Amino acid sequence: MSKMVFFSIPAHGHTNPTIPVVTELINRGHHVWYYSFLEFQEKIEAAGATFIACDEFLPKVSQKELDRKVGKDFAALIEMVADTTIALDEKVCKELRQIQPDCIVSDSVCFWGELFAKKLGIPYICSTTTFAFNQHTAKLMKRSIVEIWKMIVGMPRINKKIRLLRGHGYEVENFVSIVQNDNETDTIVYTSKAFQPMADTFSERYAFVGPSIRQLPPPQNDKKDRKVVYISLGTVLNKNRDFYQNCIKAFAQKDYDVVMSVGEKTKISSLGNIPEGFTVKNSVDQISVLQTADVFITHSGMNSVSESLYFGVPMVLFPQHSEQRMVADRVAVLGAGVKLKGNKSQYLVTSVAEVLSNQTYKQGAQKLSETLRNAGGGVEAANVILTKIGEKS
Ligand code: UDP
Repeated sequence: MSKMVFFSIPAHGHTNPTIPVVTELINRGHHVWYYSFLEFQEKIEAAGATFIACDEFLPKVSQKELDRKVGKDFAALIEMVADTTIALDEKVCKELRQIQPDCIVSDSVCFWGELFAKKLGIPYICSTTTFAFNQHTAKLMKRSIVEIWKMIVGMPRINKKIRLLRGHGYEVENFVSIVQNDNETDTIVYTSKAFQPMADTFSERYAFVGPSIRQLPPPQNDKKDRKVVYISLGTVLNKNRDFYQNCIKAFAQKDYDVVMSVGEKTKISSLGNIPEGFTVKNSVDQISVLQTADVFITHSGMNSVSESLYFGVPMVLFPQHSEQRMVADRVAVLGAGVKLKGNKSQYLVTSVAEVLSNQTYKQGAQKLSETLRNAGGGVEAANVILTKIGEKS
């Protein structure tokens, strides 16, 4: 039996793909500890891991501030990481010395997992739920002027935090070494080589295992009279009443069944009259909805896009920040969807009509679906971890 310790940030998109990996490791008789947040306790424990809460160690940031910064303010991200690492330092280092894990598996954005591994000399595996990121793919990331400006003015704040981390025994070269994947680290990427941009610039230490999608029985009734349009902006930057109301306006008179997930922060009653044919919820079982959807209007979060492609569902792409723009661009380049020109209802109408009427988008999605389904998923990710620590099964 081996011992693994997982770390992730408080985000569904970064936690969900690791759950089938944890399940697989537990089923093979290994022990997993998972440092995460109370919101995820239930699903982590259901997978069989020992859950450890980190909530009280996160910097106190209001939801409003978080919405303003997520994916857009790089200096703020580095500050949060450094503060969280230092807040967790004493507790986690003490516990890790007791557990003596064979390896740490940490999300690529949960930098503190890597920092603890390096400080304590524990083998480290990077778990990447976004595209793998290096100096080549960085060129594809079209940052907005505001994002670039925030990065430049934030540099002194970043350097201050790096000095603070060094003072606590963390060897941090510079901020690039924190955020970029490198060719010397064993890295699990939850997409296929075909979908990853510039895949040939990554070394053989990268395992492109595809998304680990929860398996469901096939839908009972897949003969539908009307096309199903699924709409979601994910679980983080999903408070956008204008957008949801424009969707209602766009599809109210159309012959579609519309399923719209508006997130926990939007009051459904604030959207006005919900027309016939619409199902509006704060959260849906997205995997289940995608099994019967014909088109997905998505914020282009990596998990949503992977899940959509997995089920061969073409997309209308509405990215909210640079990382999502990169994912949306890749889908559009590979012909599995179209980018929305703007939030207005007429754009929604024409984009959905285009994707539904032109079969090439569905074919593009189905082609990528095959590559994702054949990449190995959670089982392959578990193999990578066990190979790294010299276990055979
Ligand atoms: N999700 C869900 N129900 C919803 C909306 C989202 O189950 O109503 C899941 C979705 O299946 C995906 C994750 O939440 O696994 C969202 O991750 P993504 O990377 O797409 O976006 P984020 O929420 O991180 O912006």
